[in-house]
Amino acid sequence: MFTTTLLDWFALNGRDLPWRHTRDPYAIWLSEVILQQTRIQQGMDYWLRFMQRWPRVEDLAAATEDEVLREWQGLGYYSRARNLHTAARQILARGGFPTTISGLRALKGVGDYTAAAIGSIAFGLPAAVVDGNVYRVLARHYGISTPINTTRGKKEFAELAQSLLPTDQPALFNQAMMDFGAIQCTPTSPKCVVCPLQETCEALRTGRIGELPVKERKLNIQTVRLTYLYIRCNGKTAIHKRPAGGIWQGLWEPFLTTDSPLLTRATLLCKDVKHILTHRILLADFYFLEVQEPPTLPDDYIWVEEADLDRHAFPRLIELLLERVSH
Ligand code: SF4
Repeated sequence: MFTTTLLDWFALNGRDLPWRHTRDPYAIWLSEVILQQTRIQQGMDYWLRFMQRWPRVEDLAAATEDEVLREWQGLGYYSRARNLHTAARQILARGGFPTTISGLRALKGVGDYTAAAIGSIAFGLPAAVVDGNVYRVLARHYGISTPINTTRGKKEFAELAQSLLPTDQPALFNQAMMDFGAIQCTPTSPKCVVCPLQETCEALRTGRIGELPVKERKLNIQTVRLTYLYIRCNGKTAIHKRPAGGIWQGLWEPFLTTDSPLLTRATLLCKDVKHILTHRILLADFYFLEVQEPPTLPDDYIWVEEADLDRHAFPRLIELLLERVSH
């Protein structure tokens, strides 16, 4: 159902692009590499220029890298141009374009997506392309919320795309998926009202179009080391309130220090006590020192009766540390 509807839609709405009139793997490869981070219209101008100047892979291989980079100027991501040039020479060295997916994958700069695109369009290989467009269309139509940037998600979507691909027309299916994602099921304003898949679209039915596809936020987890010194002085101890702007704002903690000379006289009660917060892993060392005279501490520390400590709010980690102090 999905596949037939998609192919019918493509027959009426597919884009007429110059590289779709050929099965020359070189021309198709060139278009895929140029379009990776480039809008169609701009990419088309470059593709036409490249094809005119270097009509065959042999011609591109014979060019110097400088010439290729100059022709590429304005497209950005110059590693694409360098890889293109290197791969052209690889192709020449092996005596022609590889005709298998693994052979294509072995070319410099060619990943799963480009290999499937060239393989299906030039050689009719039954390999489904999976890119941002495909993730979006499938996630929405099938209501899949597995994050697309996880190993599990990549596998799930690749398998689904592959299972939908009609092996007798892989090129049409792949091009239809690309165009459907680019024209119909667009990221921010999909044209659901005139969508031929609206009756079977799970995201439309459940109102989850804006949520799909799901991308897992990659958290930047930092490890933070904390060293605390519990100072006992005549039944009192020093604590301070955590300032605004960091973790545990407004909660209390014992003397936090990294280099106080007092540490050299203190006893280590516990080391590397681990505490996990959303964006941080804390590792705390906890020292104990008993003194007769109160040492000088930064201004924001106050001395409180140890018996009154429980009148103050401490973070969970500090509570655990305080339990180690014998009273
Ligand atoms: Fe995409 Fe809307 Fe069509 Fe669903 S109904 S496939 S969300 S365009």
